[in-house]
Amino acid sequence: MEELLRLVLVVAAIWLIIHRLKHPGPRSRVTRTSRKESPPDSMPMLRCARCGVYIPQAEAVTAHGQAFCSREHATLGMRR
Ligand SMILES: [Zn+2]
Repeated sequence: MEELLRLVLVVAAIWLIIHRLKHPGPRSRVTRTSRKESPPDSMPMLRCARCGVYIPQAEAVTAHGQAFCSREHATLGMRR
């Protein structure tokens, strides 16, 4: 009986790991903090193709398949 319980625990642990890999980070969490604060760890950071500054994906401007920190840099395009 103890072995069966252990097996169930192992299966549950594996299932949890797989489940977490498929769904990283809780999406239901409401963030009411100000935008000036640093973004949560789940927020992917993108690098500006022009100046190399890191910006959160939500604030990034994408153009020509590249991410930029501002609309100005998006129009200027990639650094030559
Ligand atoms: Zn930039």
